[in-house]
Amino acid sequence: MSETPEIIADDVVVTIDYTLRNAGGEVLDSSSGDEPLSYLHGYQNIVPGLESALAGKKKGDVVKIAVAPEDGYGVRDPAAVRELERDAFPPDADLRPGIQFVAELEDGEHMPMWVLAVDDTHVHIDMNHPLAGETLHFEVTIIELRAASPNEVQHGHPHGRDGHDHHHH
Ligand code: ZN
Repeated sequence: MSETPEIIADDVVVTIDYTLRNAGGEVLDSSSGDEPLSYLHGYQNIVPGLESALAGKKKGDVVKIAVAPEDGYGVRDPAAVRELERDAFPPDADLRPGIQFVAELEDGEHMPMWVLAVDDTHVHIDMNHPLAGETLHFEVTIIELRAASPNEVQHGHPHGRDGHDHHHH
């Protein structure tokens, strides 16, 4: 077994409790009442502004950080709101407002999209993340650090808090 890391650095699995608020103080997301979040540091499992703020921190530290859109979910791009032909989707596709789907582009890249509205002929979609343009106010408590397994480093994500979640992909 590897030694327990002292500080957050690349290839460390970090377990955190977090609350995310918008600029108005409204809670957008929180691990409160749920499992804490485990992520692999250095692999963009979390937004860049939060990841860089956590680098070098220790177990027990509390980090409060405001992350600008550029370092969060991006700036809203009006050109990323599009109308697609309804016929471009399978007839049985679940196309309700708020539904997220992933489109495969011609070059094989995967692009997440969110449905804004649907009418008889068109599906109005937004390729902006729903939190694009928001300044993200995080409050994070660092619960646990451990060294990632070689398998986790290869996958670029943790296999659960203790590293024992098995999956295939
Ligand atoms: Zn994996």
